Amino acid sequence: MADMDRLNVERLVLGPISTNCYVIWRGGHEDAVVIDPGASSPRIGDVLDENSLKCRAIINTHGHPDHIGGNGALRDATGAPVYVGALDAHMLADPDDVFHVLARSGAKGSRLDADHTLEGGDVLKVGEMEFEVLATPGHTPGGISLLLAEDLTLFTGDTLFACGVGRTDFAGGDEQALWRSIFDVIFSLDERIRIYPGHGPDTTVAAETAWHGRLRFR
Ligand SMILES: [Zn+2]
Repeated sequence: MADMDRLNVERLVLGPISTNCYVIWRGGHEDAVVIDPGASSPRIGDVLDENSLKCRAIINTHGHPDHIGGNGALRDATGAPVYVGALDAHMLADPDDVFHVLARSGAKGSRLDADHTLEGGDVLKVGEMEFEVLATPGHTPGGISLLLAEDLTLFTGDTLFACGVGRTDFAGGDEQALWRSIFDVIFSLDERIRIYPGHGPDTTVAAETAWHGRLRFR
């Protein structure tokens, strides 16, 4: 029973610009969370079915279309509510208006209102999992990261990647806010934490502080 209660993180790469979607659950429990269903895909349902899971929450790390495109289909299929950072909520209702380039690329937003909005400091409890909401603006105003502190696990969306950081040249981007989110929020966490970003491979706080340096000079 070694897998009992262990946190499982399954990564699916979805959509035209290879966005990471994560299905998260604890071994021996049926409650699952899906982070950033970037496109409607049967593979999300397959992971849920193969592991006898029930999706209890859909969380968007931010409101860009390549992270929200599958919200509607997944909510219809599972009945799970959609969560997003409060300051990004308007992007779910009007995705094409805030991100023209991606909208034209085919990463269409699903045009639905979030069921709940999240703020930094909120704690979302789903089954035996506790997601702490960290406000990490900069890539978008309402960008959030999701921390499972006991599991040393963090989902950063497009704030921080392995050896890279999110763009700030889209509507609502703020470079200074992004650096504060990375250095003052994420790099203040336990360096053993594993980081699961919105694109590309996973990394750790230790690896990224080694890459960027621990002190913010920008
Ligand atoms: Zn983005």
